[in-house]
Amino acid sequence: MTVMLGDLTRLEFEASIRDRLLVIPIGSVEQHGPHLPIGTDSFITAALVDELVRLRGDRIILAPPIPVSASDEHASFQGTLSLGTDLLSTLIKTMVGRDQQRTRTLLVSAHGGNLTAFLEASQPFWIPRTHVLVEAAANWELPADALGLWEPDAHAGRTETSIMLALRPDLVRLSRATSGYRGPLSQVGDLLMSSGIQGVSESGVLGDPAGANPQEGLAILAALAADLIRTFDQVSA
Ligand SMILES: [Zn+2]
Repeated sequence: MTVMLGDLTRLEFEASIRDRLLVIPIGSVEQHGPHLPIGTDSFITAALVDELVRLRGDRIILAPPIPVSASDEHASFQGTLSLGTDLLSTLIKTMVGRDQQRTRTLLVSAHGGNLTAFLEASQPFWIPRTHVLVEAAANWELPADALGLWEPDAHAGRTETSIMLALRPDLVRLSRATSGYRGPLSQVGDLLMSSGIQGVSESGVLGDPAGANPQEGLAILAALAADLIRTFDQVSA
């Protein structure tokens, strides 16, 4: 059975953490184009953590989620809340870094913009490899999607639209869906760095939601969940 951190006493925590991992979900609050909700990445993170809990619950202590993270690249759009990379990194280091000898921790986030902060904080983490490829690859033309289904689709495109159609179809405004920048990200890397997403895509979308469907969303979620389980097993071994 999964244990919620906030339900435990200190003594119960000390006894439980010996054979469990503290899992901290990291949400994000950022624009996802005209058709997806601002909480998209938080919904995806929560769904994946639910699946992790379903399959590995007896080895987890679940912390309350941190709702806001690093989304400066979306800050020129209204509705985005961001701590920025430096503050998020400091927050994680301050919160869990000092206790890492005793408390093994796994950060889970569906938001690729947190990658730099997570790397700086030197804590074990999971982010979809789709995003890691997009953000970390020196060659920006690598396929953005680890599933190999389509070309760069980094933000509010077909991948996330399909996932949200599977998770929360009531929150997808499909009639407003529009494509964004669809070229190789290598051509706009500098612009992305200097002007954020808005400098590259007026709609706030990187990719194209056309063709998104819930069946595909379920398949992508299953692949992401399997990847998260693999990471969990490695970190908790
Ligand atoms: Zn997203």
